Amino acid sequence: AGGVRLQKVLAQAGLGSRRACEELIDRGRVEVNGQRVREQGLRVDPDRDEIKVDGLTVETQGHLFFALNKPEGVVSTMEDPDGRQCLGDYVTNRETRLFHVGRLDTETEGIILLTNHGELAHRLTHPRYGVTKTYLASIVGPIPRDLGKRLKEGIELEDGFARADSFRVVENVGRNYLVEVSLHEGRKHIVRRMLAEAGFPVDRLVRTKFGPIALGDQKPGWLRRLTITEVGMLM
Ligand code: URA
Repeated sequence: AGGVRLQKVLAQAGLGSRRACEELIDRGRVEVNGQRVREQGLRVDPDRDEIKVDGLTVETQGHLFFALNKPEGVVSTMEDPDGRQCLGDYVTNRETRLFHVGRLDTETEGIILLTNHGELAHRLTHPRYGVTKTYLASIVGPIPRDLGKRLKEGIELEDGFARADSFRVVENVGRNYLVEVSLHEGRKHIVRRMLAEAGFPVDRLVRTKFGPIALGDQKPGWLRRLTITEVGMLM
């Protein structure tokens, strides 16, 4: 028989391991050409059949999306000619060329997306799309009541105003504050510069969300594949 087994096509499209894809089929989450698939082993033509998971077309054919929790001290490039720790060191799949979606400064930790979809990688960092990024910053207080208001109204930086979309205090132990800032700015060191300008140099900075994709409890240095739902939210 011609065609490729459905679970293999799903696995290759980045939906998880072969076993995980069999489970998607078992749970009735997969449709081929509008028909819900009930049994394992169906052969499909990945170029012609329309495959959906949870109602979303698997248009990630050949496209891979990962989220890395970049540890502190790692440069945001796939390769580093000087041999410094870089994003590429955390990628085990080396058969595909991956692009990083934007950058985090070397000292900053947190979520950075990697994909072989170069065009999407580019689009997601374009200011026109204004993807919202969320950060946790450690600062030393006391902090004034109106700090959030000031950040949201805009802080004057040497390269122009920068505004936060939201601000909240997450935790406060003595003089140590953990604050959450979200913004759709993409300028270099923007969160560190805004808080420093407001009088609060940032010690530790962690990006917890990139657009709809959250870091969750993924440990530093860990790479995970995005789920089909997450990929759908990015497209
Ligand atoms: N703001 C920063 O200060 N650093 C980053 O890496 C990203 C945003």
